[in-house]
Amino acid sequence: MVRAEQVRKSYGPLEVLQGIDLEIATGEVVCLIGPSGSGKSTFLRCVNHLETIDAGRLWVGDEIVGYRQRGTKLHELSDREVCRRRTDIGMVFQHFNLFPHMTVLQNLMLAPVTVLKEDKEVVRARALALLERVGLAAKADAYPRSLSGGQQQRVAIARALTMQPKLMLFDEPTSALDPELVGDVLAVMKDLAQSGMTMLVVTHEIGFARDVADRVAFFDGGRIVECGPAAQVVTDPRHERTREFLAAVR
Ligand code: ADP
Ligand code: MG
Repeated sequence: MVRAEQVRKSYGPLEVLQGIDLEIATGEVVCLIGPSGSGKSTFLRCVNHLETIDAGRLWVGDEIVGYRQRGTKLHELSDREVCRRRTDIGMVFQHFNLFPHMTVLQNLMLAPVTVLKEDKEVVRARALALLERVGLAAKADAYPRSLSGGQQQRVAIARALTMQPKLMLFDEPTSALDPELVGDVLAVMKDLAQSGMTMLVVTHEIGFARDVADRVAFFDGGRIVECGPAAQVVTDPRHERTREFLAAVR
């Protein structure tokens, strides 16, 4: 579903991604862990076409996102093409960014109806089923501000799923939540993983990474230092740097 080969990205003089190689198979769940500033969010943003890459090759599905050799501009997608492709990718951020003036159900229905031009009643039925799935059927007509952070994040996940994406990206979805609200959000993500969704998840929840991910990649300084089966990377890391990081976040 995703293939990155030697992906590089700089902001000015700072090379934030220094040659990332990573493959994610359909149905696979991969967690990205690592210290702040190591390039995890930037990598997700490249996968989701929010950033262009400077070098390397990156595919999502069968389609190439970027193909560049250093210093040359070999491949550029039109804005229209980027929009079309992004409809296949759901993204959930640390801050849920729900539309405050819309009800929960309206938040879910907006993009499929306006972007995909789907039939309203079809979308409504799907949205209500998704709210049921994330445990919030009773909140369809509520406004975001009346919900807890954890509930809002579950709405954000349901909203992304209403677009029927092929790939879901999560960038620290529980980092802004009070500790007692984290579990419900992780449970929804676990359910999604078990349903076969392809997921790329940046998280500091090491227990989640160990229990739910197929593989874990440890980022440090713009590189993947170590990548392997989740249980192995989390419980028996090969690299000293991974070990130090895990000891610090536990
Ligand atoms: P992580 O998600 O692992 O914490 P990021 O991918 O957000 O790391 O950031 C990696 C580095 O890139 C950081 O040093 C950050 O300050 C820098 N960075 C990220 N986005 C930008 C940007 N738009 N402009 C300049 N620097 C950026
Ligand atoms: Mg980040």
